[in-house]
Amino acid sequence: MDYFVVPKNDEKQALRLRRFGMALVSYGLWVVLGLAGFFSGALTVEPDALLFMLGGIALSNMVIFIVLRSGLNKRFSDPSLTLFQCLVAMCWILALMYFSPPARDIMLMVYVMTMLFGMFQLNRSELLFLAIFSLSGYAAVLIYDDVLRVSQADLSQEALRFLVLTVMVLWSAYFGNYVGSLKHALREKNRNLERAIESATHQAERDELTRTYNRRFIMGSLDQEKVRADEENRIFSICIFDLDHFKRVNDRFGHLAGDQVLTEFTMRAGGVLRTMDQVHRRGHPMGRYGGEEFIVLLPGTSLSGAINCAERIRELTAEREFTDDIKVTVSVGVAQYRANEEIKETIQRADEALYQAKSSGRNQVCAEPRFDGPQGLETLSETVIPGRS
Ligand code: GH3
Ligand code: MG
Ligand code: MG
Repeated sequence: MDYFVVPKNDEKQALRLRRFGMALVSYGLWVVLGLAGFFSGALTVEPDALLFMLGGIALSNMVIFIVLRSGLNKRFSDPSLTLFQCLVAMCWILALMYFSPPARDIMLMVYVMTMLFGMFQLNRSELLFLAIFSLSGYAAVLIYDDVLRVSQADLSQEALRFLVLTVMVLWSAYFGNYVGSLKHALREKNRNLERAIESATHQAERDELTRTYNRRFIMGSLDQEKVRADEENRIFSICIFDLDHFKRVNDRFGHLAGDQVLTEFTMRAGGVLRTMDQVHRRGHPMGRYGGEEFIVLLPGTSLSGAINCAERIRELTAEREFTDDIKVTVSVGVAQYRANEEIKETIQRADEALYQAKSSGRNQVCAEPRFDGPQGLETLSETVIPGRS
């Protein structure tokens, strides 16, 4: 039932319907009061006129509900239909004022209530329009009525009432505009705050030079992935990259050029990882593990998949010179996570494989000794993919 009234999957529409519901409740209150006045004789109004108004109120609200519930309102520039709803309410107030002159004093209060409904939602010109509409509507009722024929005393009373209405309506339009500007400023502040938080989070996670993740973040990701792998029985692998003879690069070309190579290397590696993301639809985060060492987390990837990925990055590093014609190669150690082990053990194995790659000539991808399942055999054949020299 609730689903029928308020859509669950569209927060904005739900909010609009709830606001409509609030308006409906106040309609209900005023209708009850009006009927009480009618039956007690305090409110003089023709029964036909009363029926016309009750039917009209029900019908107009039904139309508004259907438009809001069907989503037709989204086609309008003001999808909340606030101005429209205010204008409809104003029309019914004017109708009662027309049909029952004694109700006029009371209806002035309802006028303000309607202005309040629009106050927080409407902009300055809409509020002004509503104010002018309500004032001219009231003036029209007075003129259409027999105001020109009433006595001088009644006329001055009507004039006073009109002035009071003018002040109230203009004041609520002004106040609504003021509240609206506060709301606007607050929203702007919130947006700035959100942006600041986003940027602070980004800063806290990233390495300043290469913009890859920093060590803290990537280590946290590894811990999380370990928990996920254990809970959901999933696999993942890691690669540790270490640029070869990087001290020499610094010595020959200077530290700044070295920095540039580091950044360029992560960009090349990032390209390979992004194509993997497209295939597997999962992030393959890369983080700076040490000065010229990087670690890549490959969720859902087996040892052989990780070797392939590392090999592509190794190739891409060696095949083309970096800025200033600097030639750089990279050595890689690869390991697959084994269920329930500590993450540092996986890193340790990748590190050992990296050491192996370095000691067997660099520009290579080496993998940890293969491990075949929990009760499986641990064969010690090493996977070494020699690089092109
Ligand atoms: P290999 O790994 O092949 O054994 O030799 P390597 O020269 O790379 O050896 P090592 O790991 O001992 O040295 C790493 C060097 O990387 C030391 C340091 O000068 C350099 N390095 C570390 N961080 C940065 C950095 O942020 N910028 C630059 N330009 N150089 C860095
Ligand atoms: Mg190193
Ligand atoms: Mg090195």
